[in-house]
Amino acid sequence: MAPRNEPSFRESVDLMFNRAAALMDLSPGLEEKIRVCNSTYTVRFGVRLRGQIQTFVGYRSVHSEHMEPVKGGIRYSLSVNQDEVEALAALMTYKCALVETPFGGSKGGLCIDPRQYDEHELEQITRRFAYELAKRDLINPSQNVPAPDMGTGEREMAWIADQYARMNTTDINARACVTGKPLNAGGIAGRVEATGRGVQYALREFFRHPGDAKKAGLSGKLDGKRVIIQGLGNVGYHAAKFLSEEDGARITGIIERDGALYDPDGLDVQAVHNWIVKHGGVTGFPDATHQAEGAAVLEHECDILIPAAMEGVINLTNADRIRAPLILEAANGPITAGADEILCEKGTVIIPDLFANAGGVTVSYFEWVKNLSHIRFGRMQRRQEEARHELVVAELERLDRYLGDAWSMSPDFKAKYLRGADELELVRSGLDDTMRTAYQAMSEVWNARDDVADLRTAAYLVSIDRVAKSYRAKGL
Ligand code: NAD
Repeated sequence: MAPRNEPSFRESVDLMFNRAAALMDLSPGLEEKIRVCNSTYTVRFGVRLRGQIQTFVGYRSVHSEHMEPVKGGIRYSLSVNQDEVEALAALMTYKCALVETPFGGSKGGLCIDPRQYDEHELEQITRRFAYELAKRDLINPSQNVPAPDMGTGEREMAWIADQYARMNTTDINARACVTGKPLNAGGIAGRVEATGRGVQYALREFFRHPGDAKKAGLSGKLDGKRVIIQGLGNVGYHAAKFLSEEDGARITGIIERDGALYDPDGLDVQAVHNWIVKHGGVTGFPDATHQAEGAAVLEHECDILIPAAMEGVINLTNADRIRAPLILEAANGPITAGADEILCEKGTVIIPDLFANAGGVTVSYFEWVKNLSHIRFGRMQRRQEEARHELVVAELERLDRYLGDAWSMSPDFKAKYLRGADELELVRSGLDDTMRTAYQAMSEVWNARDDVADLRTAAYLVSIDRVAKSYRAKGL
């Protein structure tokens, strides 16, 4: 958590917004309209557990309804409070605009430590929370569509979807009321890994821009780059796994709640993850150095630092000691506004949260579209595509025979080319395209304008401009 003399999370987001808005030509009224959070609903509800009634406090904040439905995760954590959900809802508005998903921004949270409850209790609590929100249209396929966030996952989303369906028995689009559901309950292939996958695509695109990488003093591709990651949860685990297994990056540090693991030769991400699942933390993992004061590893030398746990972890107390030349914000708000200034002055390049972790909402968008269209992606085209490819392969085989030894098809070409894309491949393709396009929009502004010193300001400029255009189009 950030120290007391720093602005709150919401104030931090506002400061970053203001920095970008100052470079724009927005009327003061419109600027204010975009910045403020439209509404925050607080609910206190009781659930009978272990023989007595326990009261829980939850929030659903709607930042901007320039597009509906509004979208944003539901977080289960003891640190949840109004300031936090409002900051996260604002980030959702800018994130959705940046990656062109047609949503406004929202976020929800329940003040609870989910590890203190068993599965049945969590189901009771989640269903009751969902009931309170759905009854006020704060869960609704056309108005407000939650998703997983810290402390929640597929299981909670399935309970929420079912609760909504029970309350709206004739709503044919009920499944679209929430995203991040399991596949058998209306989910989409690739949603669980989506945010981590998006982190991978974001970094790949960054390194496709050698000029941008040079600003961080880096060159080449991801292969061999030393990466330190904080938080091996949904986002951190998938990002670390893909970067190490598919791009050749070396995960030299993993920071968790109970300390950090460090190995300059690279950690086995899957082995560490299995250990955490079995033992509840990284302590005792045999093949690495364990450091009890985990946050100190944020300051170790590496090429890429990926905070993927929570907000405010890089703040005024440690910003000047961060040595990574490139930081990718996989968590929301891991760098406070004060730390951001210090790092930018040092020349650290920061790939900002509103872009870097947008993979989740992007694939949520695909899931929502799938639910509304009531058909799996690729179902109509796949076999037809394969049949057309077969025609081409038959012609190539004829050519192959005709040319004899002079030419032949590559051994795996036929199998690869013949196979039509399934849903997972289409989702990955859509996500890759989204991350590339959004990066290019940001990078263009960063490189074209002398008054834009960093990627975050560039990202806000692109987003705010799009939100402003939609408000203007609505006649506000
Ligand atoms: P998660 O609950 O699956 O994982 C969080 C991980 O961080 C856990 O392993 C936890 O033990 C660890 N952690 C918590 N506090 C820590 C600390 N102080 N130091 C080190 N490790 C700590 O959550 P998640 O869904 O992976 O979300 C992580 C971040 O990514 C959050 O900021 C969230 O808002 C953001 N995010 C998540 C998604 C998504 O699709 N899940 C999408 C966009 C952004």
